[in-house]
This record gives sequence, structure tokens and C-alpha cells, in this order.
Amino acid sequence: MWRVVGQDRAVAALQRGLAEGKLAHAYLFVGPPRVGKGTLARELAQALNCQGGDPPCQECSQCRRIAAGIHADVQVVSVETGGDGGPFDFAQGRPHKDISIEQIREIERAVSLRPFEGRCRVIIIDPADALNEEAQNAFLKTLEEPPPNVVFVLVTTRPQALRATIHSRCQRVELAPLPLPQVEAALREGWQATPGQAHLLARLSRGCLGWAIAALQDEKVLRARREELTRIRNLAAGGIQERFTDASKTAKRFQGERAAVLAVLDLWREWWRDVLLMAAGCEESVTNVDLGDILRGDAARYDVAGVTRFLRSLAACKRYLEENVNARLALEVLMLELPAPRSA
Ligand SMILES: [Zn+2]
Repeated sequence: MWRVVGQDRAVAALQRGLAEGKLAHAYLFVGPPRVGKGTLARELAQALNCQGGDPPCQECSQCRRIAAGIHADVQVVSVETGGDGGPFDFAQGRPHKDISIEQIREIERAVSLRPFEGRCRVIIIDPADALNEEAQNAFLKTLEEPPPNVVFVLVTTRPQALRATIHSRCQRVELAPLPLPQVEAALREGWQATPGQAHLLARLSRGCLGWAIAALQDEKVLRARREELTRIRNLAAGGIQERFTDASKTAKRFQGERAAVLAVLDLWREWWRDVLLMAAGCEESVTNVDLGDILRGDAARYDVAGVTRFLRSLAACKRYLEENVNARLALEVLMLELPAPRSA
């Protein structure tokens, strides 16, 4: 039984390959952070080694050892995470470090040996976009002459960071965000969330169940979100000097914690979008369902045209940051567009 939630198409594709004995030597799992890519990779490793009737049975010793991360033939190649990198951003917040060529050499040595305790070696590279140029080159050679009894799973949120030659040697499997009611139901049924928690976290998760589970299990996540929202609301009410100081701080932070800063901008976007929805009387569509009173207050305090302009500016700023335009300048321009509350 496959346990990954809501990825029926991806699971069906893998099951077909297993049933027909036509699995690829290498897969590329693509999708947003915390949508289930890592879980699916582990379950593929289980299915390939399972000794039960309905692989992955989750019960046999192979399945259990893989789930516990102690199976000798299933290896996850990753980067040092260096603690939690950003407020809302579990999967991407890790500092930008590369998977080195030494790590690839180690894999080459491992895959040249027969599987030790299972039928098939599975090498999971997560995140594959952390393979640097040199490591991608070295890894390509392994992909070109795949050893028997080995399946590679490359996991990424940023497939564009991988070379075309790597893409062409991997079978691509897309994982899409889940519908929110499905996240909500899974949180209640599988992770004992209260109806209120499930309702809120499903909306904040943008359909990424893994994020919602992490936020359910670690209260730091929601606390950081509240703090970040307070900060942006204070900045909107504050003066220009304050906003520029903030822009400069955020620009510095962007150098080391790129994904975390982008995640903060997404949070801002959701907040101001909610303010507009409230102003339009569409309360049932807001994301920040736990902060309805504050949203209602802001909807009365801010001018719709100003908020709309800021949202456009926010989208442009995010684009500039992704394209590596001068971060400080982009953030300063954004700060100039922050809507100001009507004076009481
Ligand atoms: Zn099994």
C-alpha cells in the first residue's frame, strides 16, 4: 500500500513500471517543496525490495528497514541542512550548499557492488539541484552506463537547475499540490489535527501536505508566520526610514537565505490578497482564516487601489529577486509601494 497522499497519477505510473518489469534506471521527481517527493522516493525503494504480497507492503523487514532509514541499499544523498533555514520554508530554507563530486564518487563506488541485503539499490539524490556543475558531469557518466540492480531517484523543486543531458536520461514524474480539502481530511484522519487546525493549515500549506504536517508538529512555524505578518503590518504603518532599513536588512538576508526571503514575500502576498478579499466580502476565500478580525480591520483601513498596486509591485519584486537583479534596489522600490493606512 502506497502511503503518499494525493499523488495517484505518479503512483500509477510507478506501479505500471513495476508490474510490467519496465522501471527506468533513473527518475526525476519534480514538484513544490514538501508535496511528497521524498515520501514517494522512499516508497519506490520499498516497492523494489518488498517481500510482501502487495508492494510496498509496509510490513516486511525490507519495507520497515527502509522506512526507518537503516537499509544498507537505500541511500539518500543530500546536503548539510545547517539547522532550520527560514521561517516557513522547511524544504528550501537550507543554506545553499552543493552536493560535491566526492559524494558522487562515493555513489559510484557503492553502485558498483551488488545489493547487500535487498534486491535493488536505490540512490535518492535530494535535492538534485544541489549537484554542482562538476558533480552533474561526473554523475552523468554513471547515468550513461547504469549498473544493474540500481535505480536512481533525483528529487527537485527546481528542474531548470539540471542540465538537459540529465533530464534526457531520467523519466520525469510530476507531483502536483493537493486540493485543500484533501490536505484538510488527511490532517484530521492521519495526523490527529483538530478541525480548526486542519482548516487553517490546509489553507496555509498551498496544497503541500508535508508542510502542513511539519507546521502541526512544530508550533515555531505558525509563530514565525505571525511575527512576520506583524512586521509587515507595522512597516505599512511606519515611516519611510523604517521601511528602507528593513529593505536593506532583507537584502542582506537574501544573500544567504534566498528561499526563506522568497517565502516571506509569498506570505506578504497572501496577506494583502486576503485584505482585498475581505474588502470584497469574500471571507470564505481567505487563506489566513485564523486572523479574520485583523483582516477585517485592515480591509477597512486600507484603500483597495493601493493594495492592488502593492500586489503588482510584489510580483515584480519577486521576479527581480529570482532573476538576481540588485536585491536591495528591488526591495526598496517595493517598500515605496507599501500601502499606507488611512488616518483615523
Ligand atoms: Zn514490504
